[in-house]
Amino acid sequence: IDAHPQLSETAPVALSYELFPPRSPAAAETLWTTIRELETTEPDYVSVTYGASGSNRDTALELINRLLVETTLRPLAHLTCVGNTPQELAAIIGDLLDIGVRGILALRGDLPQDGAPPAAGSLRYAQDLIDLIRRVEQRRSALLCAGKIAVGVAAYPTRHPESPSEDHDVEVLLAKQRSGADFAITQVFFEASQYEDLLTRARRAGVTIPIIPGVMPFTSLRRLKRLGELAGVEPAPRLMDRLAAADNDIERLHIGVDATVDLANAALDAGAPGLHLYTFNEHQSALEVLDKLALPRHNRSSHARAAVARTQLAS
Ligand code: FAD
Repeated sequence: IDAHPQLSETAPVALSYELFPPRSPAAAETLWTTIRELETTEPDYVSVTYGASGSNRDTALELINRLLVETTLRPLAHLTCVGNTPQELAAIIGDLLDIGVRGILALRGDLPQDGAPPAAGSLRYAQDLIDLIRRVEQRRSALLCAGKIAVGVAAYPTRHPESPSEDHDVEVLLAKQRSGADFAITQVFFEASQYEDLLTRARRAGVTIPIIPGVMPFTSLRRLKRLGELAGVEPAPRLMDRLAAADNDIERLHIGVDATVDLANAALDAGAPGLHLYTFNEHQSALEVLDKLALPRHNRSSHARAAVARTQLAS
């Protein structure tokens, strides 16, 4: 996984997608249609989410394995540490390496919603997980002779709900960089200025790793509403009003895609080295966004256009 795409002016913008493991055979079938469509756009990697405490460990590993065996895509495996002991996590990291994973997004995971403290002996912060990944990597150095594991981490354009301040978030990001993070992907945000401020604060504090904006296609009102509950990120009221006022799904799709493209372009103008699209396992919105973005990437938009055309023909 190339986490340093901003090395030259002409370097391509890194493109990646987030997927989650399917929860049923029907969802798996839809997901695989999405995967095949996204594959045509030649992303740099696709990330696969992982439930807090490893709730979907088996389905995550199965999806990652299939991506490696059946597609040309490179998976970035999310891994959460809350609720697991270092021994359990070391075994999972070993399993990931054994099937060929070379990129891990090291996360703490959300705390249990009932307010119960994490299990005794579990790792406390994402930083602890990075340390563990680097230790496992050292033990496996013979296996990893072709290169080290790329470790990504989360970054927050708006304050993490448990954090005292945005400056504290940047200190945490710096700590994660010092522990060996290679790049960061941001939480969803709604204003480009929030991403730009994060870049400015992070650079001033000494963070040098690429900070890739995580962009969610703003095409589903329901999803946007849930975002506030799940991630503590409140959607922009004006966008919500416009989506709610749309007459039908097609109009809503256009409004959402245009707003997403504007945000992504503004983030790129602010110096974003890539784009990470939260797909929610659907390709249509992601491909529409991609189609409207003029990414400096060879053939990228023609691939996307072909894929969008196929989707439209099928529907
Ligand atoms: P940390 O960096 O450990 O931070 C957690 C809290 O502890 C923060 O408030 C921070 O300020 C504080 N903190 C951290 N280190 C220190 C320190 N050294 N000293 C003092 N305070 C500290 N969740 C999932 O369950 N599965 C996923 O697959 C998943 N994928 C995600 C992908 C992305 C790109 C993002 C942005 C988030 C994702 N999340 C996922 C959500 C994430 O798990 C939550 O946001 C979680 O609450 C924090 O995770 P973190 O890795 O940022 O934790």
